[in-house]
Amino acid sequence: MTKDAPAFDFYPILGVIRDSGSVQRNRELRRQRMAAARQLGTHTQAEWEALKAEFQDRCVCCGTDQRNVEKDHIIPIYQGGSDSITNIQPFCATCNCRKGSDSFDWAAYRRVHGF
Ligand SMILES: [Zn+2]
Repeated sequence: MTKDAPAFDFYPILGVIRDSGSVQRNRELRRQRMAAARQLGTHTQAEWEALKAEFQDRCVCCGTDQRNVEKDHIIPIYQGGSDSITNIQPFCATCNCRKGSDSFDWAAYRRVHGF
């Protein structure tokens, strides 16, 4: 690889997702995008458990402790975000569904301001 070559060559994949294909094709695209995200960074189950514990299993977006939290990628995978723990925050399913293309770092906000 020359020093001018891009570090990753997965970006052309991102444009293909708009091509509405079969469920199988979309599943393959998700797999490819997650593989690309993991090239940028990964996290362990222990890191995820520690992150949830840091926020007492609360959703960092709405603050609820009444729903299970799931991994939200601060910079979405489909926008080139990594799967590193620094790009992950605990969201409840309701907030995760409402998120859209917002990439606000609620975990960082809660570390400074609390709930
Ligand atoms: Zn929430």
